[in-house]
Amino acid sequence: MVVREISCRSILNRSGIPGIDYCINPYVGCGHKCQYCYAVFMKRFTRHTEPWGDFVDAKTNAPEVLERQLRRLKPKSTISFGTVCDPYQPIEEKYILTRQCLEKLVPYKHEVSILTKSDLVLRDLDILLQLQECEVGFTITSLDKRIKDIFEPGSPPVAKRFRALERLSHMNIKTWVFVAPILPSVTDSEKDITSLFTRTEKAGADYILFDTLNPYPNVWRNVRRIVKKQFPERLELLDHYYSNQKKYAHHVKHLIRKIGRTYSIRHRVVF
Ligand code: SF4
Repeated sequence: MVVREISCRSILNRSGIPGIDYCINPYVGCGHKCQYCYAVFMKRFTRHTEPWGDFVDAKTNAPEVLERQLRRLKPKSTISFGTVCDPYQPIEEKYILTRQCLEKLVPYKHEVSILTKSDLVLRDLDILLQLQECEVGFTITSLDKRIKDIFEPGSPPVAKRFRALERLSHMNIKTWVFVAPILPSVTDSEKDITSLFTRTEKAGADYILFDTLNPYPNVWRNVRRIVKKQFPERLELLDHYYSNQKKYAHHVKHLIRKIGRTYSIRHRVVF
């Protein structure tokens, strides 16, 4: 892993995500190394030549910059961690930038939302409990260890994510699971989706969201390459999805809604 320490001029940046006013990303690059990651476009803004997942830039002045920016922010803003790179990726253990940014938010009445694939978030439970409003989402695409290891090689095991979610939920912190992306032909069967509903409900999450794959050219190329190598028998189905995306989205939405009706946990499809 190549790590560079950089300075930022702004850490609280306007978000284009509905319902989120600002985002905070203390790192550029992500050691979780997900093979379907959309944030790979961020590489263009760095001088890194290493493959995605093998470099991280740490914005070491993020807490100081945030402290300054928060003084001018309107109250009750919604602020999200993890819109581009995971705030609890492995490097956070050393740099502690996410934790320091959260500490700066404690005196304010903003709504904080965190999205991660890591149980490292539990380290900051003491801070999360001091925030006025806070929710933590865990991205979980599959309960199948082989699929997780192939598509998310640098991320913590899914069992650890669920255990972290359970702990936060017991502490009355709002929690949710983000099933994203649903990988066409790989994680989109009735059995896959049912098992995610069952496990998420059991863990005590407040809700579960689903999103499908957006086949940006480099993401699509990578996912297709992996499916071809690891699951050759599914390649035809994957290609069928690519040529019939609207029909596919309709089918998966229908499937999620049908399954969702048999569970009490709230669910939403965001595609
Ligand atoms: S955790 Fe998120 S940001 Fe990090 S590599 Fe995976 S998809 Fe990308």
